[in-house]
Amino acid sequence: MGIPYANLDEFAAARRAMVEKQISKRGVASQRVLDAMLSVPRHEFVPDQFRANAYADKPLPIGEGQTISQPFMVGAMTEALELTGSERVLEIGTGSGYQSAVLSLLAREVISIESHTSLALAAQERLGRLGYANVYIHNGDGSLGFPDAAPYDAILITAAAPEIPPLLVSQLSEGGRLVIPVGSQDNQELLQARKNGGTLNSRVLFDCRFVPLLGRYGWSRPDRKSS
Ligand code: SAH
Repeated sequence: MGIPYANLDEFAAARRAMVEKQISKRGVASQRVLDAMLSVPRHEFVPDQFRANAYADKPLPIGEGQTISQPFMVGAMTEALELTGSERVLEIGTGSGYQSAVLSLLAREVISIESHTSLALAAQERLGRLGYANVYIHNGDGSLGFPDAAPYDAILITAAAPEIPPLLVSQLSEGGRLVIPVGSQDNQELLQARKNGGTLNSRVLFDCRFVPLLGRYGWSRPDRKSS
């Protein structure tokens, strides 16, 4: 059952190449973010049949019509949260748990919400097995946020939203950062917002394409089959 060491070496080499060519070269400058992505074994977060492609420059299917985000996207979104290590972070859209693992190395605590029960359970099992002990997964509609543990110093939404869900703003600390893809189901802009004096100031980072955020403050159904 064990993976031969040769394979682990190959994964480590692929991971170094991913961080250098796809993430650092394209402008993610935070050494803390680069180190976290050098450390997390992305191949553990993809289905077996995609393991050989785990470090490729693209999103991959993870079941339920959902995807693990492209590595560059994970790096850029994580950097935009400006984490220093002391933060409590809310993530909406656990998916495979890969982004949660990266965040867990950069913050004090990560609370992640996933609406698909099967994905939430698989991510919880995986993160526990790999030793990411400061991540807490909840199954539910993350478009409502997670008021029980609010406020959060940073909030990351890893699915495309029609607008910034209002309850997330109220669950963000003063000075906190929120990163979210906003637009149509076909394409979005990645926004970085900061809460100052109770209001949110946002700027556009770049265009992107995510699977839809469904739920109360998301869409009621996907427009198209997710790719
Ligand atoms: N961050 C993930 C990728 C997430 S893909 C990773 O690293 O693998 C987006 C995820 O958001 C999908 O798993 C989808 O099921 C989930 N999602 C969509 N709408 C949601 C909602 N309202 N609440 C919680 N999760 C949601």
